[in-house]
Amino acid sequence: MNFFKKYACDDCDKKFSKQEELMNHQQIIHGKNSEYDCKKCNKNFSNMEDMRTHLQREHSYKKYR
Ligand SMILES: [Zn+2]
Ligand SMILES: [Zn+2]
Repeated sequence: MNFFKKYACDDCDKKFSKQEELMNHQQIIHGKNSEYDCKKCNKNFSNMEDMRTHLQREHSYKKYR
């Protein structure tokens, strides 16, 4: 058990001591693009549509009316 590695990858359960290492891992291993990330909760999305859906659902961003 290693308490220093607190950043866990959601996709494969690997753990990292730094957030940069986790993000690096996710980008390289899982092909995640950090361009699409939610600024509110730091979630990463593989495409803009996923992020937009997340924003609307989780943070109730409104579409243009
Ligand atoms: Zn992973
Ligand atoms: Zn979010």
